[in-house]
Amino acid sequence: MTTNRTFTMIKPDAVANGHIGAIIDKITKSGFKIIALKYTALSAEKAGQFYEVHKERPFYNALVTFMSSGPIVAAILEKDNAIEDFRKLIGATDPAKAEEGTIRNLFAKSIDANAVHGSDSDENAAIEGSFFFSAFEKF
Ligand code: GDP
Ligand code: MG
Repeated sequence: MTTNRTFTMIKPDAVANGHIGAIIDKITKSGFKIIALKYTALSAEKAGQFYEVHKERPFYNALVTFMSSGPIVAAILEKDNAIEDFRKLIGATDPAKAEEGTIRNLFAKSIDANAVHGSDSDENAAIEGSFFFSAFEKF
């Protein structure tokens, strides 16, 4: 299994607020190489599948509604220690608790509309990347 990759989404709030360019700039300047990139949208059904692991959590329906509320950017990223380094770059789930200079600190407004997704393990990065991209779309 590849251990130097992670998967990210720029979420509907950050896309709607015009932050795609600034977020991609921050990601690439932080040493991540783009392996795959797509401007797309999740239907409620697809968002529900993507976040299946959270289906027992109280915020699941709100999360699915939010994630299917507008276009997103999906990407596979590569860097040594990608999972951990990317989680550091995006900051805490709640932007109020995210360290200064992190993507969520800079671009997110609330714990639900928190600008970006970042995979939490190598296994999930591979699953999430394959959810959006075929082998022919990874470079
Ligand atoms: P992440 O790995 O930092 O994205 O956080 P989690 O995996 O715990 O949660 C997934 C996503 O669900 C988060 O990024 C938020 O968009 C959303 N979320 C998490 N906690 C809450 C919450 O308490 N309320 C709401 N409405 N959404 C939440
Ligand atoms: Mg998570």
